[in-house]
Formats: sequence, structure tokens, C-alpha cells
Amino acid sequence: MKKLFKCSVCNYIHEGTDAPDACPKCGAPKDKFVELGAEDAQKVYAAERTNDIHMEIIQLVDKIVELSKEGIGINLDPPCVSTFEKAKDEVYVIKQRSKAELEGHMKKGKW
Ligand SMILES: [Zn+2]
Repeated sequence: MKKLFKCSVCNYIHEGTDAPDACPKCGAPKDKFVELGAEDAQKVYAAERTNDIHMEIIQLVDKIVELSKEGIGINLDPPCVSTFEKAKDEVYVIKQRSKAELEGHMKKGKW
């Protein structure tokens, strides 16, 4: 059965039947890995999909900002420019909110 092991040096999480011989991130030896208990492992698995969704939303925001800037540059008429400016500002809030939520997940071990 697969288990989760966390590097006590850099917090890298490894999934497998045993800890890796060396940490893929920081190179720490096997004895620096600690197996996560059932409760902590559950947090990691439960947050896996939601973390991916937050990251995808952040990427979509970047695309919307890019499109909005293009629309502002075209400068068709003031209401059109205003609509793009609002979209750019509003999606920035969405991005920052998802980033804050991800930070919260990490602090609670949901990573
Ligand atoms: Zn490490």
C-alpha cells in the first residue's frame, strides 16, 4: 500500500511504499523522511484536486489579463476599453484570492 513520506528538510512529499533514497528536491538522505500519519495523509489527498483547480484558475486569470490588455490596446471606444479595464481588475482579485487560499492550504499541511 502506498504511503506518504515528508522530507523534514524541505517538506517535499513522496508517495510510495518506502521513502526515497534521496530527496528529489534537496538531496537529503532517506533517514530525513518522516511517514505522514493517516490524518495528515488524508489532508494531502483531499486537497490535491482543489490545489490543482486553484492553480488552473490562476493561469486562466493570466489569460484574461492578457486578452483585456489586447482589448484596451485596440481602443475601440470608451465603454469597450472600460469593460476590459474592469475585467482585468476583477480577475486580479480572483487570482489573489486563490493564491491566498493555496497559501492557507500549505500552512495547514494540505499540499
Ligand atoms: Zn528535501
